[in-house]
Amino acid sequence: MVDLLPEHTSRWQAVESVARDHFRRAGLQEIRTPLLELTELFARGIGEATDVVGKEMYTFVDRGDRSCTLRPEGTASVVRAALQHGLLSQGPQRFWYGGPMFRYERPQAGRQRQFHQIGVEYLGVGSPRSDAEVIVLAWALLVDLGVQGLVLEINSLGTLQDRKKYREELVAWLEARSDQLDDDSRKRLHTNPLRILDSKNPAIRELLQDAPTLFEALSVESKGRFEEVQVHLETLQIPSQLNPRLVRGLDYYGHTAFEITSDQLGAQATVCGGGRYDGLVEQLGGPPTPAFGWALGMERLMLLLEAAASINPDGSAARVMASTRPDLYVVNRGEQAERVALVIAHQLRAAGLVVELDSSGAAFNKQFKRAGRSRATWALVIGDDEAERGEGRLKYLQEATTQANPTPIDQLHRLDDVTGLVRLVRE
Ligand code: ATP
Ligand code: MG
Repeated sequence: MVDLLPEHTSRWQAVESVARDHFRRAGLQEIRTPLLELTELFARGIGEATDVVGKEMYTFVDRGDRSCTLRPEGTASVVRAALQHGLLSQGPQRFWYGGPMFRYERPQAGRQRQFHQIGVEYLGVGSPRSDAEVIVLAWALLVDLGVQGLVLEINSLGTLQDRKKYREELVAWLEARSDQLDDDSRKRLHTNPLRILDSKNPAIRELLQDAPTLFEALSVESKGRFEEVQVHLETLQIPSQLNPRLVRGLDYYGHTAFEITSDQLGAQATVCGGGRYDGLVEQLGGPPTPAFGWALGMERLMLLLEAAASINPDGSAARVMASTRPDLYVVNRGEQAERVALVIAHQLRAAGLVVELDSSGAAFNKQFKRAGRSRATWALVIGDDEAERGEGRLKYLQEATTQANPTPIDQLHRLDDVTGLVRLVRE
């Protein structure tokens, strides 16, 4: 589990605010559910035979003898909450959520035990058009953030009947080659054979190249539905690639499934994944309700943004990644000066400027060095002499470029005079 230090939190906040704005414009509402749920919710919602439930959950018995689990994903909780509060009887619900998820996995680049997702869930909307509407939300967000090298992979997992039929074909095919399977795949052969398609073992992936695909086993209706989704994506000018081997790690998916991957993420290539899960609401005790959603991994997104920002220092990723710089660094020394500087810093902050007040009492040259390191646009210098006259010298340090918070420069101009010397008139 990883600490997020200030250098990173400012970037995260910038990304989150772009996402929040996209969601707001799409008419989505935020939902916040507890980090802790009864284990049963995930066992029923995600499926016992999945990796997530089978080996990745943080589960413990609480003091009331209940089995509890730190949420490994958001969808089951969102559906539980919607059911518990009767929201589904009020028509379609469009939610977004964000926050930490917990999975006991082997930590590596882009894979952590506490990680963060932002996600979207559309409940009560079943048309092929809505699949495209929800996918484009994820795509547009990533494009807007300036992420490079994205590929949208899509597949259809069809209906339960399609998957039953395919399951038989796949098991027969794999059984004939069981000597080539690893332990994991052999175990799944009879519990959850479709999961084998999601294997990360290169030898298994190679073997599966020739396996029959679920896509080929789809019924005419399922194929027709999927083609409609593809047409909508084309109309929206979102390039997509059919990946007939794409399955999702969770059990509740059917029909459209998708992943957004990038060639810049190494082995953990998927930044966003989701799809249709029409069976889940009913499985959790609700009425039959179509649903579609996705979740995006924040850590992987940040890796992509770092890569994009270094490739293109003037692009939108670089802007998002730029940390907040102070407009003004207050260099101050002397008893009276320090008192005055405190008040001035407070007033300038109230006026909307980002102000860093040097609190060291160190020599002026040392404070100037710190001002430079802070990357502030201006230094405001106050010594006892200046304080006596009610003046502060405003010194230009560096240009305010590609900032997340563009300096309200006209406010500074109001304080500035032609020579660069400033008289801060106190009210
Ligand atoms: P993977 O195949 O990489 O394990 P997944 O299919 O388990 O991914 P989902 O459950 O679909 O992932 O979660 C959606 C997104 O959340 C992933 O695409 C990824 O960006 C992110 N994610 C999932 N697990 C982790 C993790 N352990 N650490 C960091 N990010 C993760
Ligand atoms: Mg996983």
